[in-house]
Parts: sequence; C-alpha cells; structure tokens
Amino acid sequence: MKKICIIYTGGTIGMVPTSNGFAPEKGYFAGALNGIDELSSDGMPRWDLIEFEPLLDSSNIAVSQWNQIGCTIRDNYDNYGGFVVLHGTDTMAYTASALSFMLEDLDKPVILTGSQIPLCMLRSDARDNLITSMLIAGAGRVHEVCLYFGGRLIRGSRATKASADGLIAFDSPNYPFLAEAGIDIRYNKNALAKRSRGRFCLTEFHQASIGVIKVFPGIQFRLFEPIMTEGLNGIVLETFGTGNIPNYDDALLPLIRRAFENGTVVTVCSQCQQGTVKLGAYETSSALTAAGAVSGYDMTTEAAVAKLYYLFSRGLEADKIKDMMETDMRGELTL
Ligand code: ASP
Repeated sequence: MKKICIIYTGGTIGMVPTSNGFAPEKGYFAGALNGIDELSSDGMPRWDLIEFEPLLDSSNIAVSQWNQIGCTIRDNYDNYGGFVVLHGTDTMAYTASALSFMLEDLDKPVILTGSQIPLCMLRSDARDNLITSMLIAGAGRVHEVCLYFGGRLIRGSRATKASADGLIAFDSPNYPFLAEAGIDIRYNKNALAKRSRGRFCLTEFHQASIGVIKVFPGIQFRLFEPIMTEGLNGIVLETFGTGNIPNYDDALLPLIRRAFENGTVVTVCSQCQQGTVKLGAYETSSALTAAGAVSGYDMTTEAAVAKLYYLFSRGLEADKIKDMMETDMRGELTL
C-alpha cells in the first residue's frame, strides 16, 4: 500500500449539526478521523490530511476551488501514491469531471468521495466510503480520476448524482463501473483507463461563461436571445431524446447560427440519462448541425460543462473547441 493524501474540501461527510442545519466546522473532522481505529490498522495505507480553509458545502464549489484541488494534487504529486478528495455530494460529479480534464497524463488514483449522512451521525455511510476510497487510492490500480460511493467506483467524467437521499447516490449511466466493492473490491479491468505514457501536468481553469439550457415543451427560444448570442462562451443544450428540439417556431436556429458566428460553442446533450445524441436521426435535430451546433454524444451535462471550461481555459479557437467537444479526451464519451 502506498502512502496517500486526503484532501478535505467540506461536504456532509465532516459536517456537524448547527442551529441552521448541517455545516462544516474547522478542525472537527481531523479529530474525528483520529478516533477511527481502522484508519491506523495494518491493512490501511498510511495517510496525511490536508484541510481546506474555508470548508465548503459543495454548492459553493466552482472554478477557483477546482483549481485549488488541482494545484494541491500537483504540488504533492511526487510525495504520494494516490489522492482521496473529500467533497460534498451535490456537485461532486462536476468536480470529478473538472479534475478529469485538468489533470493530464495522470498516473495515480484520484478518488472523490463523501457521504449522504455525516460521520458524526448514526447510520453514517462516511466510514465505508472513506475506508474503501483509501484502499483503492493506496492500491494504485487505477490511473485516472474516479468517484467512489455506495460500493461503486465510477470514472470521474461519467459520474452523475442520481439520488438526493439514497446511500447509493451516484450512477454511471453510459459506462460500466470501474470496480464494485462487496466482500472484495472487484476491478473491471477492461473498463479502466490505460496507463498514460505522458508527463503529468495540470491545466488550471479560467472563468469562462458557460450556460446550460434545458429544452421543455413550450419553450420560447426568443427569451434566450440576449444570453445565447452575446454573453456566453459555451452552451450545453439539453435536448429531448437523441437530440431533438421543437420546431414549432423558427427562433432557435438563427440564434444558434448567431451564437456560433460570435464564437459560442453550442453542444447538444440529451435529457435522457442513458443513450446518445444522434444529430440528424430526426428532422427535429438535423437543423442543429446545419446551424453550427456539435454533438455531445453520450456525455453527461457535468462532463460537457467541465470540458467547455477546460477547452476555453486552453485558449483554443472556437472551431478547434467544436472539434474537441466531439472527440473523446478522457473516456468521457462513446463515439
Ligand atoms: N450539501 C452537501 C454538499 O454537497 C450535500 C452532501 O455533501 O451530501 O456539500
């Protein structure tokens, strides 16, 4: 077992009850970890803890915290065999996707986890999620960013939060689990990313302007005109089924065309959890390609948002970004 680094960002796992509901408390979690005997038992990797300041509910985590996590991993990369990132569940799938793109040519496990019930409460799922994540990080068999929760190890760029209150809270709708933890931890060798031969590096994200627009019956596209054509670098359009939009009014296509002319990259994802976008399969989707939108295939919205941030942070031209959105970079989409 290699020594691992636990990066604690906040989230339910280390929260305590307050008069305003659960909230993180500085210093509490480090003391609580020292009280868990298993963490110093023989089968466990040795570990250090880095606690962020301030500790956050993950609703407040965005680009600057993604950079902070990425820089912490980069600065400690040579000192540890793997990393466990403790994070709130609400936006954990976004952070897992963001880190997948940020950390290039990663050769060590980076495992995000947390819990639905705080460590200090009865029936908490924190202990198992933490201990199993530490074992996976210490074993060094995965070489990518993953999310472990409720017995499932999921590729970071494929994860989505599927339950607000279940203890098996995350799913990987379009890619097999990388491992399942029952009595043993069973790795799915065929699903793991191949070891990279490149040299590990970090791309910090910039504040790009990204929007997600969910299409619904009766949507009046005209109302979106100012943000779509002027304000945004990238748009994820969550469409029906395989990429369909209503064509009862002709407002959307000119908007997409103008957005595209302004350098905005419009990526078409599906509202369905499972399956893939097939632009052109129906008349109601083929016009999207003609107007300059690109297919997100079976990417989660979380991965599409993170990928847009990543590509804009690299300062690429819109045309190149369009190409890359349709290219598999970190195992985030199936062509
Ligand atoms: N609101 C919490 C968070 O995301 C929920 C959790 O951790 O489960 O930080």
